[in-house]
Amino acid sequence: MLTDRFAPSPTGALHLGHAFSALLGHDAARAAGGRYLLRMEDLDRGRVRPGCAEAICRDLAWIGIHWDGPVLAQSTRRPAYAAALDRLGRAGLTYACACSRKDIAEAAAAPHGGAHGPDGVRYPGTCRTKGLAPGPGLAMRLDMASAISALGGTQAVASLGFTELGAGPHAESGRITLDPAWLVEVAGDPVLARRDGTPAYHLAVVVDDAAQGVSMVTRGEDLFAATAIHRLLQALLDLPVPSYRHHKLICDEAGRRLAKRDDARALSSLREGGATPADVRAMMGLD
Ligand code: GLU
Repeated sequence: MLTDRFAPSPTGALHLGHAFSALLGHDAARAAGGRYLLRMEDLDRGRVRPGCAEAICRDLAWIGIHWDGPVLAQSTRRPAYAAALDRLGRAGLTYACACSRKDIAEAAAAPHGGAHGPDGVRYPGTCRTKGLAPGPGLAMRLDMASAISALGGTQAVASLGFTELGAGPHAESGRITLDPAWLVEVAGDPVLARRDGTPAYHLAVVVDDAAQGVSMVTRGEDLFAATAIHRLLQALLDLPVPSYRHHKLICDEAGRRLAKRDDARALSSLREGGATPADVRAMMGLD
């Protein structure tokens, strides 16, 4: 059965961009007689705002989105992420990292540093061979080159792929295969758990999509590049691979993507201003 999900971070109000994503996924799931799930990506305690998850649920219900079953909060799922991290660690694919953002920015400023991947500046690998003992105050990273070897090498990884149903500047519809050179040279060694112990998005998203039986991921095209990291983690953790639909982002009149600070386009502001759910659909070109 087709199962899609919406996975907002409860760090600000839902705006038209979120509504577009949620409606696309929800409409398609319902048309196929499938399931639609809601998951709160609330791991970042420093950014989560009280009451925001409840407001998101109200806004979604207002535009006609109904989800199946209880809302899954990632903050309740830490043992599952710890188990996945442990599995990768036991396979020798992770390492502890003491670098701060400033250390990484400085290394990136050096000659030959500074490729930009899905997580920003590529990590230069400073701690990869230090053998630091994991512990409080240290991040955990995936050793990308070792991960590729563990999966059988570059040819084996280049044959891994996923089905992309979206289309846009970054995403062609069809079968997308992984580029091992890009993974090493651009994505680098992604963080799997942050220095404060918070599981990273890339790890949590693949663990939860699998645990929830998600077969279709509808989300913005800004996450298209990160999907290669997700596909690699799925292979390392023997997780099922959903299909993906990365859609275009809703922009303002100046062509900038909407941000959480864009209060005028928050669903709650539109509702208070008298807009109807049908108006919201029309604003996004959905009938
Ligand atoms: N929590 C992410 C966001 O709000 C979405 C992640 C996803 O759909 O995979 O942008």
